[in-house]
Amino acid sequence: MFKALILNQQDNKTLAQVGDVDNNQLPDGDVTVAVEFSSLNYKDGLAITGAGKIIRQFPMVPGIDFSGTVQTSTDSRYQPGDKVVLTGWGVGENHWGGMAELARVKADWLVPLPANLTCEQTMVIGTAGLTAMLCVQALEDAGLTPDSGEILVTGASGGVGSVAVTLLAKLGYRVAAVTGRASQNGELLKQLGATTIVERSELEEAAKPLEKQRWAGAIDTVGSKMLAKVLSQLDYNGVVAACGLAGGFDLPTTVMPFILRNVRLQGVDSVYCPYEKRQQAWQRLSELLPASFYQQAGQTVTLEQVPELAQAIIQGQVTGRTLVKLS
Ligand code: NAP
Repeated sequence: MFKALILNQQDNKTLAQVGDVDNNQLPDGDVTVAVEFSSLNYKDGLAITGAGKIIRQFPMVPGIDFSGTVQTSTDSRYQPGDKVVLTGWGVGENHWGGMAELARVKADWLVPLPANLTCEQTMVIGTAGLTAMLCVQALEDAGLTPDSGEILVTGASGGVGSVAVTLLAKLGYRVAAVTGRASQNGELLKQLGATTIVERSELEEAAKPLEKQRWAGAIDTVGSKMLAKVLSQLDYNGVVAACGLAGGFDLPTTVMPFILRNVRLQGVDSVYCPYEKRQQAWQRLSELLPASFYQQAGQTVTLEQVPELAQAIIQGQVTGRTLVKLS
């Protein structure tokens, strides 16, 4: 038996309860992992409260991210005792996830822990940190270097944005951070390495097809009007790595930045990112993030506390990372 947070559906409502589950109920998979940490993401909040249609089959164990130790494996790449991390692949959405003492998953979905990271540290990074690294890699793949010019990061005090600012600064880029909470988070963003703070309101007005060229590149977590504005302000040959929709999923833009300034728009997905790229991203995160990153404000909670925190996270009442300790 193992302990898990189990989601069921009754009268169209999602019920979340901690309970004991028999090991033979684990889903199919090649590797069984004794989970040490999971983390509570916004998407988990939507799934656990039922506020978002994230889960379509019940019962389900939530938890889109987890890290732990391999208990058994039928895949030659993993042996009992190996430390592993998992993010994405629909785990915690359509395959039982990390908010349980045991998880059974496909070996292809796992990444071995980089040598200098603990399970706890990988969950401070989580899907948000991995996505930020993939965005930085997308800018590099497009040919940007610190000499190209200033890079804009939107939604800068969020999970993805704050890691993106940290990584870019560590790599030697000049970073402009867009935030709607400059008075509260401006100083923190500077500590992470931002050289310029841009008020969100500055980038919220409707974009002209082409505006003054300001940015060599951008990492956009917001979408909608803000992404349109960023596109219209990119330098000739500039590139945006777009990964989010915190401001909306539409994109009210024109073709002008693309056909007159050679601007490129690169989408970034972390969920189905292929293994090699994912493994490389984890390795670089382990090398680039400073020790101070892991001390950022956050909390570690038990499985029993998760349902209440899930409500809080979707109401925007949680700041910093929430780790869930399993063993
Ligand atoms: P988050 O922690 O909630 O951060 C989003 C940030 O965006 C907020 O902290 C806020 O920053 C800013 N923001 C919020 N509402 C806004 C609005 N209406 N207009 C402009 N800015 C707004 O979320 P996250 O974990 O960083 O994720 C960011 C986005 O990336 C989300 O849309 C998420 O779904 C997406 N995502 C995508 C992937 C992928 O694989 N593509 C993976 C992870 C996340 P300030 O207060 O500093 O303005």
